[in-house]
Amino acid sequence: MSSAAASHLASALLRREILDLHAYHVPDSSGYIKLDAMENPYSLPTALRDAIAEAVAAAAINRYPDPSAAVLKEKIRGVLGLPEGMEVLLGNGSDELIQLLALALNKPGATLLGVEPSFVMYKMIATFTGMRYVGVPLRADFALDLETTLAAIRREQPALIFLAYPNNPTGNLFAADEVAQIIEAAQGLVVVDEAYYAFADDSFIPRLAHYPNLLVMRTFSKLGMAGLRLGFLAGSTAWLEHLEKLRLPYNVGVLPQVVAVKLLEHHETLLQQAQQIKQDRAALYRQLDAIAAVRVYPSEANFLLFRVANATEVFNGLKQRGVLIKNLNGGHPMLNGCLRVTVGTPGENERFMEALQKCLHHG
Ligand code: PMP
Repeated sequence: MSSAAASHLASALLRREILDLHAYHVPDSSGYIKLDAMENPYSLPTALRDAIAEAVAAAAINRYPDPSAAVLKEKIRGVLGLPEGMEVLLGNGSDELIQLLALALNKPGATLLGVEPSFVMYKMIATFTGMRYVGVPLRADFALDLETTLAAIRREQPALIFLAYPNNPTGNLFAADEVAQIIEAAQGLVVVDEAYYAFADDSFIPRLAHYPNLLVMRTFSKLGMAGLRLGFLAGSTAWLEHLEKLRLPYNVGVLPQVVAVKLLEHHETLLQQAQQIKQDRAALYRQLDAIAAVRVYPSEANFLLFRVANATEVFNGLKQRGVLIKNLNGGHPMLNGCLRVTVGTPGENERFMEALQKCLHHG
């Protein structure tokens, strides 16, 4: 009775957009070979784990965190090689920064423009912040459709544009000169989302100084810190000083700050792991490409998108065989028949390939 009353009340009081929204679904992965969420599969060397344990033991968890996260920001600046006059703003994961940007730029009637298919949170956050959303389709090979995108920018005058570079869930890196043309054509702010930068060979950070309407967003999630929840925006202080006002004062806790500082002191260890993942991505790509029933797409990220005739059956078959990947079938129409696998350890990739072969042969 009370739950029915609460449900009635919630329906009456909540905003229509929230009632209509589907929650971002995260499946239970316990017991599976987990290749669904673009995590780094490697644990850390014992010496580094010991150093982290020591730093955590000494951390003042009874105190609020340093609201400016000065030590961590300095470390990030150190590994980034930021151009002169550029700063960073930290988020509790980059998801939080997408939300912060939408809140900041959401003047009445303002539009957020994304390409499709891309990271679903751009549209979801636009929806729940009440921002108008426009999605411009990519080409069939998932490259940017430059003319259509430029036309949409002229027509819609978006206040905010997100381009994932490399793109998720397709894995490809858009042509840099086309991204540059979009930044030049846009009147609004363009955020180049470099969540997968560690696995790609290009970045817009060196170009930050050229474009007053460009910010680069990154996350450490794919580099081995998904559990810490740490992302950042890099760009001109002229933007960041205002965006800072929206950042909740203690959005990055004491422990993430302390642990990330330790990890960034050993940044090269994480980059070596990323290098290994890039090599294993190439091997996995070749194996998938050799299967006639599979169409695999080129990737500069730590995952591969591939298409099969009976995607949901294959997804379920893999799950029955203990391998969890991401089923994109039934989401965006351009992703019909598509599955996404994160590059794991060589052993995990092997288990995935064995299970996939079995699914394709036996259903
Ligand atoms: N941007 C892109 C393109 C992503 O794929 C993801 C994670 N899937 C994120 C941002 C968010 O990452 P996080 O919140 O873990 O920093």
